[in-house]
Amino acid sequence: MDYPSKVLSKAVEEIAGLPGIGKKSALRLALHLLRQPASQGISLGTSIQNLVTDIKYCKECHNFSDSDVCDICSDEKRNDELLCIVEDVRDVMAIENTGKYKGKYLVLGGKISPMEGIGPSQLRIGSIEKKLNEGVVKELIFALSATMEGDTTAYYIYKKFKSLQVMFSSIARGIAVGDELEYADEISLGRSITNRTAYNEAG
Ligand SMILES: [Zn+2]
Repeated sequence: MDYPSKVLSKAVEEIAGLPGIGKKSALRLALHLLRQPASQGISLGTSIQNLVTDIKYCKECHNFSDSDVCDICSDEKRNDELLCIVEDVRDVMAIENTGKYKGKYLVLGGKISPMEGIGPSQLRIGSIEKKLNEGVVKELIFALSATMEGDTTAYYIYKKFKSLQVMFSSIARGIAVGDELEYADEISLGRSITNRTAYNEAG
């Protein structure tokens, strides 16, 4: 498509670079911004800039944070004895939304997937080890997706740490097999974290 302005063309190109947005939608969004007061577009731009330059990862759990340690990890009212293993920060948000979990988290940053070339060394298994070595955690809860990759990841972690004095559990699988955790509805996710079951090698 030919654009009457290089500035517009560049903006459309950048917006269309986001997932799920085609050139047409990108143009619509750019034109929308031009119809709004300039302050709105400037505020959006600043917010995107802050997002990519200022966001930090919690050094304890790898959740997003505005400081070195996130609000969940620094909350003294939360139970240090429970450590919930999730793949992604979106899973932390999903579980937090249920309001049914008051322990801590550890964000793995993915799951073991030979197909995608992701092995244990690319995940934050070392951070789990560090947490467990502190000797406070009593229960390690797997809240991984009910997929082969999720199961493989849980099994790997279980095998690596099963000799330690820690209980292993898994969120109840009321969620249909193959569903990603982030898409589970709040009520069933809340129920599945409350009714978690002991983890054994059979999964
Ligand atoms: Zn944290």
